Amino acid sequence: MEGINLIPFLDLKAQYVQIRPEIDAAVARVIGSGHFVLGPEVTAFEERFADYCRTAHCRAVNSGTSALHLALLAAGIGPGDEVITVSMTFVATTAAILYSGARPVFVDVDPVTWTMDPGLIEAAITPRTKAILPVHLHGLMADMDPITEIARRHGLVVIEDAAQAHGAEYRGRRAGSVGDLGCFSFYPGKNLGAFGEGGAVVTDRPEFARRVSLLRDWGQESKYDHIIAGYNCRMDEIQSAILNVKLDYIERWTEARRSLAERYDALLSDLPFARPQPPRHARHVYHVYAVRSQGRDDALTLLRDAGIGAGIHYPVPVHLQKAYAELGYRAGDFPVTEMLADEFLSLPIYPELLPEQAAEVVTTLRSAAALRPSVAGSGGAEHPQSVMTWSHNRRAS
Ligand SMILES: *Cc1c(COP(=O)(O)O)cnc(C)c1O
Repeated sequence: MEGINLIPFLDLKAQYVQIRPEIDAAVARVIGSGHFVLGPEVTAFEERFADYCRTAHCRAVNSGTSALHLALLAAGIGPGDEVITVSMTFVATTAAILYSGARPVFVDVDPVTWTMDPGLIEAAITPRTKAILPVHLHGLMADMDPITEIARRHGLVVIEDAAQAHGAEYRGRRAGSVGDLGCFSFYPGKNLGAFGEGGAVVTDRPEFARRVSLLRDWGQESKYDHIIAGYNCRMDEIQSAILNVKLDYIERWTEARRSLAERYDALLSDLPFARPQPPRHARHVYHVYAVRSQGRDDALTLLRDAGIGAGIHYPVPVHLQKAYAELGYRAGDFPVTEMLADEFLSLPIYPELLPEQAAEVVTTLRSAAALRPSVAGSGGAEHPQSVMTWSHNRRAS
């Protein structure tokens, strides 16, 4: 039963009301200008977002999915090629690889960071492998040093799926700037969200930026001079104008997410929920704050019954989705990914969430733990590995 949402999972309106005059003025300015697609707002945003990511170039497109698709094409990936990625992600990562004509090859994720396990990459490399596409799940960057080292050794391109990781850092380097290309989404619920669809590709390589420019606008070098077969993946001016306003706030909002995560960490410390374990060198930007528990389903029901928006990111890994059955994977192929799908529970986190609300979420979780005394006291939060060894009912496939 759907109760009243006392604490929503996400509250986009709360953010808008804080910056309403600036947003409304920006939108009105675009409407008054009569310039709606790929104009001065887009160019300004590209320059500013490249700076933010500490890359030389940015090309804004119409979604994160397009960013991934065009980044793959710009890197020369196509039919007959293989791209190594993960199954614990939103389906768009896999879909974009398939759009390019290449085949996605999954590797499992690490049980502590929940991102691509670099130790599994080399065994997945074949003569057809062209790229590695790690996903910065929930806002924590994948372990990029070993990934880029393997890529260099095998002559592979690295494309970061940074759709959830605006401003995240790995050893002081920003998401999107470590691989050859970085891909972002500005879907409304993302850490930097448009009021509609949007995405961007960032890169230090001018030839990649140039190819994305061509591909997003019908391969036009100049009007009606189509030098390659392209697409319509252009970003519109209204979305860029909104993103230009919001870019001034992203650092403040990210810090608010990080302090809420710290609060959750502290409040949950005596509960049998395994918390995120970002490495010391990482700046996690908490697009999602997920915990793990074998009692996840009970906890989720309890939260929802209490009017608290909670979710699962993601409940069914891509390799077990019906839509991608043709790839030939089956249950059991990626044990860590499948365990996380069974145990993940995402708690509300957004800059406007109040610390008291986070406390209320945890109070509700406390009663969930009390409902399952066998789970309570297992000490999972301090020992993520021990959580893994709990017997658990894996979903029958
Ligand atoms: C949101 C998301 C995408 C797709 O972005 P859209 O803008 O919705 O197309 C791709 N990968 C991940 C990991 C995402 O979270």
